[in-house]
Amino acid sequence: MFKPRLIQFVCLFGWSVLFCHGYTQWSLVRVAEAETLEIKCAAGAQPGDNLWASGGFFTPRFFGKAVGDSLTWRFELAAPLEEPVLLVRYAYDEPGYTAFAGSKPPREFQVLVGALKPLKLSFPHTGGWDEYDTVTLKLPPLIKGRHMIRLVSLAEHTTTDIDVLGLAEEMPERLPVPFRPTVIAKAESGRFLLRATAQARFTPDEKSIIAEFEKIYRFMKNYSDWEPTVAIGINVIEDRLWPFGSATAFSDMRGVFFRASVMHKAFGDWCHEMSHWFLVGRSPKWLEEPLVQVLTAMVWMPGIYPGPDPKKDPLYAQGERIGRDVLNSPKRQYEDIAPVLYAIAVKYGPDIYGRFFKACAKAGAKEELVFHPGRHLTRDEIARYLSEAAGESVLPLLKRWKGFDNAP
Ligand SMILES: [Zn+2]
Repeated sequence: MFKPRLIQFVCLFGWSVLFCHGYTQWSLVRVAEAETLEIKCAAGAQPGDNLWASGGFFTPRFFGKAVGDSLTWRFELAAPLEEPVLLVRYAYDEPGYTAFAGSKPPREFQVLVGALKPLKLSFPHTGGWDEYDTVTLKLPPLIKGRHMIRLVSLAEHTTTDIDVLGLAEEMPERLPVPFRPTVIAKAESGRFLLRATAQARFTPDEKSIIAEFEKIYRFMKNYSDWEPTVAIGINVIEDRLWPFGSATAFSDMRGVFFRASVMHKAFGDWCHEMSHWFLVGRSPKWLEEPLVQVLTAMVWMPGIYPGPDPKKDPLYAQGERIGRDVLNSPKRQYEDIAPVLYAIAVKYGPDIYGRFFKACAKAGAKEELVFHPGRHLTRDEIARYLSEAAGESVLPLLKRWKGFDNAP
């Protein structure tokens, strides 16, 4: 997790002038969170929770599994609607559910609009239970006054996580918040998938975010010759649903996560979390987080986002000072390896880690080193290739970290 104090990078980049997300709200007449409506669900009435759902909740789990499960929305219109459109945001994992149900279940709900002729609405696979999307249905004209819309499951296993319902006065050109799909954009390179929670508002826009991550990626790949082997999710989480208090970013198996309100001023976080993705699966835990911090301060930020004088950047200067202290007090031992890593960067120059990464990649290609994601480099391999990159043994420095002799 990136430490909040690193937000000091904030103002160097001047992105704060970028415009807000361009989703229009104009055509929406009514919006209702499904979990707050009248729900009949044989499997139980407790709303399900999901980070990616609008408001964090959807209809109860297994809503639609039983015939007759229904969702009723009552509302009043202050003016008639000539061409109303119903929007329903939902999630459905077809492969997962088909395996559970044993066959491919029907995917249609009946839609009752007052006493009008019943309609039908399909709910196809969205990509997974964490991936929401919206289906729309043109309704007959609605008069001013009270109305009722009801979705009814007509067959077993029409299980659907219904998130939010909306009524628009005409078909929206682009889905408005909170009906926007979870996956907002995919990088042409296939390297990134941009996801956002339903109500996340953030800058810069999706194209700029992906372009920026491509830039970070290219820099890291050039520096290291290492590369992640899977597409990385860039996940933007609205503040209300953010799971980690004052932290601004974290990574997990699904990718890198950012708190929406600080997304635009967290370039240090972008580099930090991306750096984890270059190291994860190859670097042992004891090295990964400290090395990510050292690289972010000494290599990524000065290289990718140089201010007027990169070496005067507060984080770079702080890293340099820590490293010099280590070199100037040769008897001192350290509880944490980070100061030692700063010292190595100071003594041999920050590019030493690039030479180290490249030496590992080269040895891997020649099969002198077992080098693939899922296999962590050992302490001795790290000492060997880091020494190769330094042109002399770095063991005396590494051993100044108290944990070195017992590290795996
Ligand atoms: Zn980290």
